[in-house]
Amino acid sequence: MGIAEAFSCFEIHSGMKVQLAMIQRKIQSTKSDNLVDRINDFLASPPEGTPTEVLEAFSSLDSNQFLPPKLFYELVEQAPIAISITDPTARILYVNCAFETLTGYAREEVIGKNESVLSSKSTPESVYRELWETIHSNKVWQGTLVNHRKSQEEYLAELTISPVNNNKGQTAYFLGMHRDITEMHQLEQRLKFQKNLTEAALNAAPMVVAVVAADRKVLLDNHAYKALIGDFRGVEPASLFLEALEQQVGFDLSTVCQVGSGFTNVEIRLDPPGGAAPRWFACSGVHVPELDEAAHNYFKQAESTRCCLLLIANEVTGSRKRIQEARLNMIRANMAEQQMVQTMREAISGAIFKIQAPLNVIKAALSMPAAGQENMGMRIVLQQALKSGDEAMESLHEALPSPVVEKTSLVNINELLHEVVKLSTENLLSAGIVVDWRPAPVLAEVNGRINALRGLFKYLIDNAIQSLIEAKQDYREIRIQTKQDNQDLLIEVMDNGVGIPKAHRLKVFEPFYCGWEQPKEHAGMGLTMAQEVVIGHGGNVEIDANFYGGCRVFVRLPLNGMEETLL
Ligand code: FAD
Repeated sequence: MGIAEAFSCFEIHSGMKVQLAMIQRKIQSTKSDNLVDRINDFLASPPEGTPTEVLEAFSSLDSNQFLPPKLFYELVEQAPIAISITDPTARILYVNCAFETLTGYAREEVIGKNESVLSSKSTPESVYRELWETIHSNKVWQGTLVNHRKSQEEYLAELTISPVNNNKGQTAYFLGMHRDITEMHQLEQRLKFQKNLTEAALNAAPMVVAVVAADRKVLLDNHAYKALIGDFRGVEPASLFLEALEQQVGFDLSTVCQVGSGFTNVEIRLDPPGGAAPRWFACSGVHVPELDEAAHNYFKQAESTRCCLLLIANEVTGSRKRIQEARLNMIRANMAEQQMVQTMREAISGAIFKIQAPLNVIKAALSMPAAGQENMGMRIVLQQALKSGDEAMESLHEALPSPVVEKTSLVNINELLHEVVKLSTENLLSAGIVVDWRPAPVLAEVNGRINALRGLFKYLIDNAIQSLIEAKQDYREIRIQTKQDNQDLLIEVMDNGVGIPKAHRLKVFEPFYCGWEQPKEHAGMGLTMAQEVVIGHGGNVEIDANFYGGCRVFVRLPLNGMEETLL
């Protein structure tokens, strides 16, 4: 800065101008090259009549209350960012050291030239147009240009241009500041490439992959995962996986940071909404420390305790189906045997029930006092009849096959119901019945006797089939729904068959009640036994008294009912 410019700061009013011109000449006449030294010399012996305002202003400069102009100059000169000052047409007036270092041009090579000396001609013209429109409207422009150094090597310049106005508010200069961001851009590009590469690899993988944050948000997923969203009708698959992992293997996302090396090949079952077949997945999970972007944690990254779960799920429904098929065949054989035993039990129990009635009459007759000799013969006959009746009863009781005592285990009711429907496929198809299967997507396992429970649901479904056959409706439907209600499972079996009259809705559970038009092999023990099984599991079964146009049976099974009843 020249002395004239330094003096323009002190032009307080026009009356002072003559004196100031004199002072300016005095300061210029001092020998030193340094403006500050010259001011100090001047203050040491100011000319007579120097205005006090000028002396105060110079003294305050001296006492460091204001930074001396030299310091501003040094600051700009030594700033680590390339700085240039141009006239309003971008003709360069000044460049700093960093500018020289960055561009490779010495200042004398560029002063007087246009900033376009740096242009590599790879920047689109529209960018320059936008740059000039912005700075011409007296605003700051910020953007990226492709520049080249003196060596013609290209670099990316992150540039800020700020208009500098004179005291009339007109643009007198432009201040340009730029830095080389080529390396940062290269890193960004590499990061983008890595991301694309990772995404392509994930998408090409046949297994489901998702990264789930601690708040259950999905941070990253692949095509296989997205396909599941469609299969599960818009329900977020991650939440279904997490629920299933939690309920079926006790995995807790909030402790994901502690899972160590994670879990591998944990098989879980998901039931898609809308009655589609259940799907099986072998899941593996590893924890990944979550990114912490908070400024206050800048120096604490390593201490971060929040983790995401990288979930990899391989669909194993195919192999599960094959195993399931083999299991079903085994169950079929087992159930046929059970059915035979059950039919025998029902037939013998029926016979016992029927014989018991006349025996009771005979017992009652014999308990009456004998009236005369002629009745003695009758009493003897009755006693003989009672004796043979009792013997027959004893033989029947002996012939009654004993019920199978079964151990308890954890039972997935969705799986069991699905199995029962599969076992009944032939009957359902031949009766033209549509099954509307509405399982809860994830259901906790119940502690129970699997064969007894399977028998229970088989009774209910067989009853529904029989009811639909007797109703002879054109459209025949059985709806099976499962739900979880806190610690209870609710199972609903509904049909649009003949229904049960309101008055009989409790009676149907009594032994040997049979309301079918064609009882065939039915002895009326099915619902009695079904009720026995449910009660044995600490639950209850009831027929919806307010349901018309068919029958709706509700079964409520407590998750730990069996434990409680065993205690
Ligand atoms: P030009 O033909 O000079 O200009 C291209 C387009 O820019 C024109 O079609 C027009 O739309 C617009 N334009 C150019 N000059 C003016 C003007 N005076 N008034 C209105 N519109 C105009 N450019 C760089 O490439 N690298 C830099 O580092 C750089 N730093 C700059 C720093 C400052 C402080 C300023 C003020 C400008 C800077 N420029 C820089 C812009 C530079 O002055 C040129 O406009 C640009 O380089 C394009 O020059 P060109 O010869 O390729 O095309």
